Amino acid sequence: MTRLSEVYKKLENIVKEKYISNSIYVRHAYSRNVDPVLQGVPDIVIRPKDAQEIAEILKIANIENIPVTPRGGGDCEFGGSKPIGDGGIVLDMKRMNEIINLDQENLIVTVEAGISWGKLNEYLCHFGLYTGCMGPGSGMTAAVGGGISHHSVGGGGCAKYGACTNQLVSLEVVLPTGDIIETGSQANKYSKFPFNRFGNGPDLAGLFCGDNGIFGV
Ligand SMILES: Cc1cc2nc3c(=O)[nH]c(=O)nc-3n(C[C@H](O)[C@H](O)[C@H](O)COP(=O)(O)OP(=O)(O)OC[C@H]3O[C@@H](n4cnc5c(N)ncnc54)[C@H](O)[C@@H]3O)c2cc1C
Repeated sequence: MTRLSEVYKKLENIVKEKYISNSIYVRHAYSRNVDPVLQGVPDIVIRPKDAQEIAEILKIANIENIPVTPRGGGDCEFGGSKPIGDGGIVLDMKRMNEIINLDQENLIVTVEAGISWGKLNEYLCHFGLYTGCMGPGSGMTAAVGGGISHHSVGGGGCAKYGACTNQLVSLEVVLPTGDIIETGSQANKYSKFPFNRFGNGPDLAGLFCGDNGIFGV
């Protein structure tokens, strides 16, 4: 068994067979995003269901020294969400597309990072709400996590509300080591849902805004 097939087996145990692939067709599909330039073809494409699975994947990648490229909608025009050079793992976030909580009193919605701006705003409009800055112009497919990693503006509302990251209250982040952290008010273990980005110390969320997935997922 080669080192790569051993890694594949370990990753498959985390997400199960359906959510991992090393088929040549899938790998080539994930070697492109909206910008057609070929930078490299990944070895493995994996689709985690939650932060815990991401943590386990990153721990293995870290031990094995394998690069990981997070990917939301793949709408980055500058090659961000595909591998640079052959090899590595593409971490497709689109399976994590649920709305976790809507706090109508404080106007805060908690979502998984792979949800598209389109799905989120379609949900919110049933409550007479929208996300202020409605993400990028590509928001029908682009993900909230991709928007945060890009500091996206432009889909409407940003002249009034700023970039989508200006509206960010709290992040749950899996670090490259596999450790999971919470930022802002959510770092307080007694806080059930996020309500404030600042006040608990330095603005840790800011580290992950516009980082292109380099500092965490
Ligand atoms: C037609 C069109 C219109 C566009 N309009 C705009 C616009 O108005 N304004 C604008 O700012 N941009 C725009 N863009 C660019 C781009 O679509 C946006 O920046 C968008 O927010 C990218 O989101 P995505 O989910 O597709 O990210 P992806 O392309 O999947 O990823 C972008 C970067 O973020 C990282 N990443 C993705 N998800 C995560 C995550 N969960 N954790 C950590 N890192 C992650 C990736 O590794 C990559 O580096 C447009 C693009 C197109 C094609």
